[in-house]
Amino acid sequence: MADINANYLNLRSSYLFSEIAARVAAHAAKNPDQKIIRLGIGDVTQPLVPSVIKALQDAVNEQSTAAGFKGYGPEQGYDFLREAIVKDSYPGLGIGADEIFVSDGAKCDVGNFQELFATGCKVAITDPVYPVYADANVMAGRGGAPDGSGRFAGMIYLPCTAENGFVPELPKEKPDLIYLCYPNNPTGTVLTRDQLKVWVDYARKNDAIIFYDSAYECFIREPGIPHSIYEVDGAREVAVEFRSYSKTAGFTGLRCGYAVVPKTVTGKAPDGSRVALNTLWNRRQTTKYNGCPYIVQRAAEAVHSAQGKKEVTAVVEGYLANSKLIKNAFEKMGLTVVGGTNAPYVWVKVPMNSWDFFTLLLEKAGVVGTPGAGFGPSGQEYFRLTGFGSPENTREAIERLRSLKL
Ligand code: PLP
Repeated sequence: MADINANYLNLRSSYLFSEIAARVAAHAAKNPDQKIIRLGIGDVTQPLVPSVIKALQDAVNEQSTAAGFKGYGPEQGYDFLREAIVKDSYPGLGIGADEIFVSDGAKCDVGNFQELFATGCKVAITDPVYPVYADANVMAGRGGAPDGSGRFAGMIYLPCTAENGFVPELPKEKPDLIYLCYPNNPTGTVLTRDQLKVWVDYARKNDAIIFYDSAYECFIREPGIPHSIYEVDGAREVAVEFRSYSKTAGFTGLRCGYAVVPKTVTGKAPDGSRVALNTLWNRRQTTKYNGCPYIVQRAAEAVHSAQGKKEVTAVVEGYLANSKLIKNAFEKMGLTVVGGTNAPYVWVKVPMNSWDFFTLLLEKAGVVGTPGAGFGPSGQEYFRLTGFGSPENTREAIERLRSLKL
């Protein structure tokens, strides 16, 4: 009998953004003349920069010649990109090109990497959280059943609230796998080097692995905030890091990201011996993945060039300017806001339940945001907005917010 993986039945039935889309569609059907401004979903809106387009075009043209044609590529990524990543993003951090695994984005990597670990491993995630970490572990049987509050009974939660300054505290129960995301989605907050060191030291002491998602690293502007976990001493023994070109360079449709898996990070085999995660991830990727397209990897390489960096930084600056406008607008309304300065996300404390605030904003202003409750119970009275809209739409949304009576 084809019994299904019953863990899937533990997942919450509706993915957050489908629920939002359904509610927006219902509102739009009732109000066909209203222009709806979407500041909720984390997709970019600006086109690919000229350096990326040129690299794509050149790579496409190469495919028309026998000499330039590329078939299957290395599953781990082409050396030209792995080397560009090491040189540009990890200088002086002791990371080698054979510790970089190029993929078609960070979502699959953060979702798939848990496969290397036993079902019995205890997983810690923040609350609120990017839902993929939780759901991937629920599918693998590590989440247990939903407990009715928006959490899963088998996971360890690290609340990030105003009370702890949105900095997760060390858990009482010992986790084996710890997901950290900084700059954070959804709160837009960052960790200082000392705050991150607490977690690296904890992982070393407790033989835990940190999954460090730095998909929003390019938004960091404050000096002293670590861009990579490997800036912290000892992280090369306990952390894998995930990065993405999605928000860095507008690749949400093109698809490219990578995992950094230092050879020094190990897990424990049943006989007590240590096994390098780099070897296991290589085995996993070569078995289940056939590599990111050559033309996309050439485009990603262009992001690391001097000109490419200049161009993508200008786009990111535009998104950050939007985030700051949103942050200021809500602060002027008397609300407490975090994020928006080292991240595209603005996390607003709202004076009601987050879904009620969603409805209010949609109905009274035609602006779509994301209810914090969708990221976990600690987001119940928060609302996430993003700087990824166009400057015009962001300004228009802010004008509409000004007339809102809370
Ligand atoms: N990690 C975080 C925290 C994200 O917010 C997202 C996308 O929104 C991703 C990973 C996925 O990135 P990618 O587009 O590279 O799959």
